[in-house]
Amino acid sequence: MKSIKSNLNLFEKHISKKYINYKPPYNIVMLTIHQLVKIYEEGVNIHFKEKPSPKGFKGEYDPSSLEILIYTPAIESKSDGDLTILHEFVHARDDVYSSKIVYIQDIIQYEQETEQEALKTYKKKPYIIDFILQIYRNDNK
Ligand SMILES: [Zn+2]
Repeated sequence: MKSIKSNLNLFEKHISKKYINYKPPYNIVMLTIHQLVKIYEEGVNIHFKEKPSPKGFKGEYDPSSLEILIYTPAIESKSDGDLTILHEFVHARDDVYSSKIVYIQDIIQYEQETEQEALKTYKKKPYIIDFILQIYRNDNK
């Protein structure tokens, strides 16, 4: 399981400084193919890093560069990697779909909801991860 604490540092550094739309939890269900296409079209990139994160992260999303970074040395298993990817794509989705300006007040709660959505997507729609890897495969060549 991804450490919420390590993600906190990231949010303090990146996301919490940016005003983004925070959708109420009841709107957050699962990542969809439709959302992923939009995320892709908006220019979000994913990179797999061979070196560990200096901050000990498994993954992070940087809204300023629209980059998802996955630190492969920290990934413990296939499912761990898949969940990390989904988790970061939920952050990217929230960023891309931001329309109203609302400050994320409770970072811990936001992180927990992000992880819950990643888990739910992974369990109910496992093909989403294949879709992600497929649409980004050509880009990383
Ligand atoms: Zn996170």
